[in-house]
Amino acid sequence: MNPYWSALVRDLKPYIPGEQPKLSDLVKLNTNENPYPPSPKVLDAIRGELGASLRLYPDPNCELLKQAIARYQGVGTNQVFVGNGSDEVLAHAFQALLKHPLPILFPDITYSFYPVYCGLYAIAYETVPLTESFEIRIEDYLRPNGGIVFPNPNAPTGRVLPLADIETLLSRNRSSVVIVDEAYIDFGGESAAALVNRFPHLLVIQTLSKSRSLAGLRVGFALGNPELIEALERVKGSFNSYPLDRLAIVGGIAAFDDRDHFEWSRQAIMWTRQWLSQGLADLGFEVLPSAANFLFVRHPGHDGGELAAALRERHIIVRHFKLPRIEQFLRITVGTEEECQILLDALSDLV
Ligand code: PMP
Repeated sequence: MNPYWSALVRDLKPYIPGEQPKLSDLVKLNTNENPYPPSPKVLDAIRGELGASLRLYPDPNCELLKQAIARYQGVGTNQVFVGNGSDEVLAHAFQALLKHPLPILFPDITYSFYPVYCGLYAIAYETVPLTESFEIRIEDYLRPNGGIVFPNPNAPTGRVLPLADIETLLSRNRSSVVIVDEAYIDFGGESAAALVNRFPHLLVIQTLSKSRSLAGLRVGFALGNPELIEALERVKGSFNSYPLDRLAIVGGIAAFDDRDHFEWSRQAIMWTRQWLSQGLADLGFEVLPSAANFLFVRHPGHDGGELAAALRERHIIVRHFKLPRIEQFLRITVGTEEECQILLDALSDLV
């Protein structure tokens, strides 16, 4: 170990994101990006900002972006927090809201950044097993805890919890914060954003990376009671005064302005998801029901890791997790119809 490293770094297992290879010649279905370009209005707004104003710092409070989000979501501006992608928003939420003597709870199969933040911020946690059918059962979270975190829809399973279950959880667990990570909510789930005025311990986190095709711009946000939001602002202020650059601020505002583009792309993805799901089932895959822009699948006759490697040789990248219970599964991002056809053609040779 390097003598200059802190104990924290020595023990930290960093998050390893899906690979980001050069796009030429590749069908990239591994990190759940949107296959369609962002709204032209976003690109125009960013072009408009490319000039002398880059000399100046951006608004540290991102007020105009918060207003655009607040208007869109029907909440007050003081109920909105913005960050550099929802990963950063989650990091601040873990720091600001979950440090508690009791362990926090999240599913055993979920977004693998959660245990990384716990390691970084010394937050005790316990994982709660998903059911046999890979679902979150809220009764399993009704025990003393220092906070509850889960994605809805969950990743990498794609399974969604009905809003009524989240409401029950919030009513029955009132002594700790419940963070609902809605990175994929626009592809079929029902957002808990409507509940933030009724439950002061609910934080809903969303991103522009998926349904608004802006993974490269890094804009995420949280919605919640003004006091929860204030806690996040305090942490942010001590970390980076300017969480979003000028391009992200104007691009983010424009993204909420173009409802038609948003509707078109999410409908296209949901349609392709249904079609791809059928195509994979026809090839003998077991396909979990998905409310996200990816499918979680396994083939009873083929090893998941070997299938992923064979697809890689054909320049098709999907995600394979070498984790207990899911080592036979592949997580496949819903791409364009053309990309999904290339995938189906390759798989029909392999299975
Ligand atoms: N939450 C979940 C469940 C995710 O899968 C992702 C994407 N990897 C994120 C949050 C973070 O997305 P971003 O930082 O691009 O907003």
